[in-house]
Amino acid sequence: MVSAGLWLFSQLNARSRRLTSFHYVKWETADLSVLITYNALCLNVDSFPFSIQKGRGKMRKACKPVIAVHGGAGTWDPERSQAALKSVKEAAETGFKTMRGGGSAVDAVVEAVAFMEDSGNFNAGAGSALNIEKRVEMEASVMDGATLQAGAAALLSDVRNPVRLARLVMEKTDHVFVVGKGADDLARMFGLERRQSVTAAQLERYQAQLKSLLAGSGYLPRLADLIKAHPEVFQLETVGAVALDCAGNVAAATSTGGFPLKLAGRIGDSPSIGCGTYADNRSGACSASGVGEIAIRLVLAKTVCDYMGNGRAPQEAAEDAIALIKERIPNSYNVMGLIAVDVNGRIGAAHSTSNLCWAYMTAALEEPVASLKAKLVK
Ligand code: ASP
Repeated sequence: MVSAGLWLFSQLNARSRRLTSFHYVKWETADLSVLITYNALCLNVDSFPFSIQKGRGKMRKACKPVIAVHGGAGTWDPERSQAALKSVKEAAETGFKTMRGGGSAVDAVVEAVAFMEDSGNFNAGAGSALNIEKRVEMEASVMDGATLQAGAAALLSDVRNPVRLARLVMEKTDHVFVVGKGADDLARMFGLERRQSVTAAQLERYQAQLKSLLAGSGYLPRLADLIKAHPEVFQLETVGAVALDCAGNVAAATSTGGFPLKLAGRIGDSPSIGCGTYADNRSGACSASGVGEIAIRLVLAKTVCDYMGNGRAPQEAAEDAIALIKERIPNSYNVMGLIAVDVNGRIGAAHSTSNLCWAYMTAALEEPVASLKAKLVK
């Protein structure tokens, strides 16, 4: 009878995550009195202290995935922001459902980022900015916090979803970072989908960016001067995602077309493990957006994870990392945005750009929350 009661109990929990029946009580023996008390109070099983859940061999640990995604730091003008907000919300939902359906944190961040790559609303995948030679050079990375495995690819011209190639590098090769022709060859070998490399919309945007650039300085001797002279040109809209899955594993992924008008061959922080992307089950996961050269110099995503590993909450860790940039690299183009999740499922987001387009979803929410602002650190 007791085992029948335990079976019914676990079925009810699995379906509704709530203790719904008092029938169970009469089958109980004294050693389960703690559970009966919870039952009587009609508490959600998610609020059980973990030690109690752990003590009950037949009880499943609560599945409470968490995901946060970003569609880039920068300045979001009203015309584009509505579509972008809708896309980050849908991306968060995509990743969340992936985990609720049994997928891992790696599955979730890859699916969320691939969704944003396909949307065309961000500087990644279909919406990638062009480099100074009017060519697409996309880059992406992914990291699994459970194993510290990581994969990255860069200088990609026509791979439909760079983040999927990054995952293949992580899972199917002995390497972490593959670029250019070698990366293209890998994509072909694994049969990844391609997309037309440069679209009319990308070209149109390039012309506008160039016009604006040339109208100010006439030439581009230093990137810093360009950004200072034309902040509106450098709308940074990389995409990224961080997640904690039901098994307690974290992961992060980031994808970008890179800086608009960047020099050919330039690789930024987004595919650089530790800089734009990092995940470690001992701390948490982080994805960055902003001026790649700044994130690289401070190994920024790893810095955020280290802060979390040392006890800071993700929000504090993200804010402190932005403050660190201001302290250590106090120049005019040191703007960044960060999202983070820790192994306890707490979320953080901070930026020094005017906006950070981002969204998050947890088991406690009905639907993802999306915004163009997080904590602005000046
Ligand atoms: N971090 C990216 C890069 O420097 C740009 C971005 O975040 O939009 O390539």
